[in-house]
Amino acid sequence: MLKPHNNKFDVIVAGGGPAGASAAIHLARGGANVLLIEQKKFPRAKLCGEFVSPECQAHFEKLGVANAMIAAAPALLEETVFYSTKGHHVAVPSKWFGGRAAFGLSRAVMDEVLLRRAQERGVTVFEDASITEPIRDGETVTGVRVKTDTGHDDYRAPITIDATGRARILSRKLIKTRNKRPSLVAFKAHFRKTKVAPGACEIYFYPGGYGGLSTIEAGTSNLCFIVAAEHVKRCHSDPNIVLREVVMRNRRAAETLETAETCSEWLSASWERFGRQRPSPAPGLLAIGDSAAFIDPFTGSGMLMAFESGELVAQAILRHNRDVFSDLADDYTASYRRMFDSRLRICGLLRRAAFSPHLAEIGIAICGASERLRGRLARATRSNAKSHNFLPQKTLLE
Ligand SMILES: Cc1cc2nc3c(=O)[nH]c(=O)nc-3n(C[C@H](O)[C@H](O)[C@H](O)COP(=O)(O)OP(=O)(O)OC[C@H]3O[C@@H](n4cnc5c(N)ncnc54)[C@H](O)[C@@H]3O)c2cc1C
Repeated sequence: MLKPHNNKFDVIVAGGGPAGASAAIHLARGGANVLLIEQKKFPRAKLCGEFVSPECQAHFEKLGVANAMIAAAPALLEETVFYSTKGHHVAVPSKWFGGRAAFGLSRAVMDEVLLRRAQERGVTVFEDASITEPIRDGETVTGVRVKTDTGHDDYRAPITIDATGRARILSRKLIKTRNKRPSLVAFKAHFRKTKVAPGACEIYFYPGGYGGLSTIEAGTSNLCFIVAAEHVKRCHSDPNIVLREVVMRNRRAAETLETAETCSEWLSASWERFGRQRPSPAPGLLAIGDSAAFIDPFTGSGMLMAFESGELVAQAILRHNRDVFSDLADDYTASYRRMFDSRLRICGLLRRAAFSPHLAEIGIAICGASERLRGRLARATRSNAKSHNFLPQKTLLE
């Protein structure tokens, strides 16, 4: 890792996922001197459904990565089909969110393209470098301490952005919350020989959770599922047993995964809850992506929120470049709430059905009977309350 001569930057971005990389690209384009610190060496696999919802394509255009994403030959996913345990189903066409299709694209590829674009744009990028703690001057965050294989270094900036995903490395160090025992565990692996419908992202509900199966580049399938921690414990924390004994209790999953063979390692992660955190956790520190709020994966919109909040924070920082931090923080928090509060509230309500097979069965029956209701609900998980009468965006695939 090449160290810069000067350890001072305009903005430090912690984490190089879609939120951090996109914020860094927007900021660098606006003339800011940006340092991005990522603990992994890219490309790296990432636990995710790898359903890149259609609205993300407008972000790829703005970030200057649209052609690189197309060149990676993503699968085109024209609909998401939700299957109840008994096999009843209801479909949500991708075109309801604008354009024609969502992308099925591995996070290894997508995140790598974004990080390299940030470098091209002039962002200083450290990989294989872990942020261990914020540096503070009184209450104000003035930088970060970074651990690499050669030791520890300090980097300073008047603004630091926590984009470390659900880990919320910086925010967590500053706002002490009681560590609850994780109630949910997620697993993900790539598979060959599944029978998933081409062009569909299939979502399966089962007791204690749900999972998604869809095609990504090169015809491989990605399977990612969430299960209540107690079921995982009963299955000796073995993903193959969880798959057979819990996920495949869904009739459709039993069909599509009957002949499937894994072609990657299993990844797993656990956490205690969904929902929002603080967009401005401390003076000098702002949060984006999953560090600010973790939206339920059944919406397939976590990456969209990462891009949206990355853009929002960059716009706020560039708008307030000479102002005191509190004005920037107030402005960003207000725009964040306007953009995301409504969808986070609606997802909170839908979550109950997602984790109860009985309620999921009823929900699928009701949504199946009314296309209008289905459309409104689907769009309400993406947009703010005022834009539920969605106007399709222009995207790459139109
Ligand atoms: C089971 C599951 C399925 C999902 N499926 C989908 C889906 O199909 N579609 C969708 O749109 N969304 C999905 N999501 C949500 C999506 O994965 C997230 O919303 C998205 O990754 C958030 O991006 P981010 O940049 O905020 O965080 P992340 O993508 O988590 O990126 C954070 C980065 O920070 C780095 N980091 C962490 N700690 C440190 C540290 N100490 N120092 C330096 N770097 C650090 C990490 O290595 C990582 O690269 C899913 C989530 C889960 C849990």
